[in-house]
Amino acid sequence: MRLMQFPQALEAVLLTLERMREESAHRPCASRSALDALKRTAPVRSSENFRETKIDIEVAKDPKKADKLAAVQTRVSVCTKCPNLASTRTQTVFGVGNPDADIMFIGEAPGADEDAQGEPFVGRAGQLLTKIIKAMGFAREDVYIANILKCRPDVPAGSFGNRAPTPREMQTCRPYLMEQIDIIKPKVIVALGAVAVEGLLGTRAPMRELRGRWDSFNGTPLMITYHPAYLLRNQAPSEKRKVWEDMMLVLERLDKPISEKQRNYFL
Ligand code: SF4
Repeated sequence: MRLMQFPQALEAVLLTLERMREESAHRPCASRSALDALKRTAPVRSSENFRETKIDIEVAKDPKKADKLAAVQTRVSVCTKCPNLASTRTQTVFGVGNPDADIMFIGEAPGADEDAQGEPFVGRAGQLLTKIIKAMGFAREDVYIANILKCRPDVPAGSFGNRAPTPREMQTCRPYLMEQIDIIKPKVIVALGAVAVEGLLGTRAPMRELRGRWDSFNGTPLMITYHPAYLLRNQAPSEKRKVWEDMMLVLERLDKPISEKQRNYFL
């Protein structure tokens, strides 16, 4: 049955959604297909002199994906497969973002800030990643961010800084990331840095040879670019521009329009 054949019912639905939007702290949600159907029907309403109602509805996240991710997160939170990491971590760092994300950014492992806060990419490198995401036209909440490893690699007592995960640690934790990717099903994966590439593809090579080209991860297009921490260490505009050019390739792959301002952007 076509929705537009029942204009009064449609009007009632839209008025209810509008009331929810105005009176509730949360905006109403609808599935993408329902939203498309309402938008297609909107011109019919105005032509039949119905009261104009602005359709402003957030596209709902798929609750099944969120539930599935939560189930994996629960298992990760008590994982002790790497005893040395399980005994030294403050908490596991699962991942954050939209379970329906088109883009999934994957880094290497939590650092001290992430271990303390339980969220990936929250330190200085994370702030730069957020800046990159915003320059691409997204909010951090629109994408999904995770790491190869869910626990901070342990460092000797009293020492500062972070260490890279070992191949064994990456191999041990990899199944959790596979589950995340399988649930989210992003249209594009962005591997941030050489460790992420090694964890995903098992490939070791200098980043200058890896970045800026499309690879594939189980059929999902994979863009390799520098880790934001590298850009903090190497402030050369040319290196920042390379990352931005990689991100423009991602936008093109997603059929997102790129403005002139974005084309000329330097991080
Ligand atoms: S790094 Fe991964 S596999 Fe190892 S203990 Fe943490 S959650 Fe488990």
